[in-house]
Amino acid sequence: MADCVFCRIIAGQAPATVYYRDDQVIAFQDIRPVAPVHILIVPIKHIESINAMSEEDKPLIGHLFWVARQLAVQHGIAESGYRSIINTGRDAGQAVFHLHLHIIGGQRVRYPMG
Ligand code: AMP
Ligand code: ZN
Repeated sequence: MADCVFCRIIAGQAPATVYYRDDQVIAFQDIRPVAPVHILIVPIKHIESINAMSEEDKPLIGHLFWVARQLAVQHGIAESGYRSIINTGRDAGQAVFHLHLHIIGGQRVRYPMG
């Protein structure tokens, strides 16, 4: 999707600090981190949100969490803990309509985030 910022990052057409990439997902630094560790894990495939998931995407969503687990270890927050967030739609404040999993940690995370 040409007008999607995350598709542009995936295509190498927009800058990002990339921590991980494979044939299914990319993980990069959130541009406005809310905690010392704030990573977005994003499917390569443009899926607008959880609402736009199809049944064939079920393993992909599992893979997002599998990558999250490994990044949490690499970034030293596996033991201290972290929050995993997927915002869906208006009431969740979804701002980028390309599905992504936030991994937030490195400090105590307040809930709700606001
Ligand atoms: P959400 O509310 O879940 O849609 O959150 C979108 C997230 O994407 C926010 O935390 C933004 O800071 C982040 N974001 C938006 N544009 C970029 C970008 N170009 N690079 C990295 N993160 C971004
Ligand atoms: Zn996209």
